[in-house]
Amino acid sequence: MSTNYYFTNSAEERDDPKVHIGKRSAAGAWCDRCGSTLTRDGTQYVHKSSSRQLDACPICYTSRDDFKAACSFTLSMMAHVDTLKELAVLAPDVTIVADEYGRLFTASQMLEIIDDCKMIFQSGSWFS
Ligand SMILES: [Zn+2]
Repeated sequence: MSTNYYFTNSAEERDDPKVHIGKRSAAGAWCDRCGSTLTRDGTQYVHKSSSRQLDACPICYTSRDDFKAACSFTLSMMAHVDTLKELAVLAPDVTIVADEYGRLFTASQMLEIIDDCKMIFQSGSWFS
């Protein structure tokens, strides 16, 4: 399951990269100790259904059964993080972000959602 996030203060189309902050997605097992995906060929393949999954961390050999699934965040523009940091200071109590289900968030809350994701990507095109 994935969730898209948008700036709420814009009249632009929601899929516009200037409005679409990005998408949080499930990204498989992740070893926090090593900072390693258990996807055999690396983080760039975590969203490929055909990618092979390891039974254990390739570095410390901890079983994948001991890990929870990690999330990734794909930003439409890396600059959104800087914008959110500025808004967290300038308008800390304003809910300026909405997810695709209509839930509202402040800039700080949005930054926490991104920070909770183990992998950060950037899409080079419009996406949803
Ligand atoms: Zn490990």
